[in-house]
Amino acid sequence: MLDSRPVRESFLVFGAPMIDRTAIDEVVDSLESGWIGTGPKVTHFEEDLRDYIDVHRVSCLGSCTAALFLGLRALNVGPGDEVLVPAMTFVASANVVEHTGARPVLVDCEPGSGLMDLDAAEASITESTVAVMPVHLAGRPLDMDRLNALRDAYRLAVIEDAAHAIGAEWRGQRIGSFGNLTAFSFYVTKNITTIEGGALASPHDEIADRVERLALHGLSLGAWQRYSDPGFKHYDVEEPGFKFNMTDVQAALGLRQLEHLDAWIDYRAELWSLYDELLEELPLDLPPPSEQATRHARHLYQVRVRPEAPISRDELLDHLAERRIGAGVHYRGVHLQPFYARKYGIAPAALPVSTELSERTLSLPLSPKVSEEDVYDVVAALRSGLLR
Ligand SMILES: *Cc1c(COP(=O)(O)O)cnc(C)c1O
Repeated sequence: MLDSRPVRESFLVFGAPMIDRTAIDEVVDSLESGWIGTGPKVTHFEEDLRDYIDVHRVSCLGSCTAALFLGLRALNVGPGDEVLVPAMTFVASANVVEHTGARPVLVDCEPGSGLMDLDAAEASITESTVAVMPVHLAGRPLDMDRLNALRDAYRLAVIEDAAHAIGAEWRGQRIGSFGNLTAFSFYVTKNITTIEGGALASPHDEIADRVERLALHGLSLGAWQRYSDPGFKHYDVEEPGFKFNMTDVQAALGLRQLEHLDAWIDYRAELWSLYDELLEELPLDLPPPSEQATRHARHLYQVRVRPEAPISRDELLDHLAERRIGAGVHYRGVHLQPFYARKYGIAPAALPVSTELSERTLSLPLSPKVSEEDVYDVVAALRSGLLR
């Protein structure tokens, strides 16, 4: 039955967002209120995120990239410092370290999960290492006990890249609440979206205050506070900041997305099981099961094309595109990007697991917009490419 499915009429977008009527109404409410910049809805979204994650403070920003960068700035990471970053991540994680003037030290990953290999991370620590930026790749939480033990043993700062992992839990506790700075993304394809947007969770007011100040030119008072208080207020600038704030229109969308997050993760998990079941006999390595008592945020369903498959990963991507299936690649390792390869002289063989995964991995369509019928289309397309 699967093998006689016709090619789809419409292109299946890999991570299509779900925008419902309540979200549209909330955006319209913001537009009609006259306050469209950083204001009450941003504050409200920060409070809801704070309660959801169960952390002391959440600061909403223009992107996860901004959250990672400002987090590093607030930790005073700069020239001469080294920050451990997994090679298997989106290039933003390494780019922000570059922008502080510090050196991103790329670390290989575990063969099964693709998460940063914490043994390799420990072996990469030098006297210059000040921080580590682990990535909860695909929504699978890192071993937080081991990570925080490493942090405490070497007195490192940790800034978690949780772009994929809002809603993920390690041993019953939400990612973002482990005493580290944690950055989230609300980019279009992420588990919840504000179109562009991000947030930084912080256990300390001091860091959160500095991040929020740096996000708005370094002004001493947020725009919302300045305009909501009676009487005129001057601002003071103690250090030059950036323009990395979130707007109320974005936060309006976020408020109504967060309400659905848990149900969406459950739905993603259902599609996940369906893929697991239907792909069993194909020459693909499927995602390993989650650790006990963790909650995977099910952001990316990643498979790896086995060496014995009749076609390569790249040929399979072409084949899927011909069958109108949009797949993703997460990622070709940071060490393979020309800038990093050149600047740090990293040979592909120096990070062998990441290099191999970079050539074999692909991510299948997974979002609240993807239906079971869509999954059958994806599986049919994979079968026609891989069983020949
Ligand atoms: C999407 C993503 C980012 C960047 O998020 P933006 O909100 O687009 O800046 C950073 N790290 C990882 C792992 C990502 O997937």
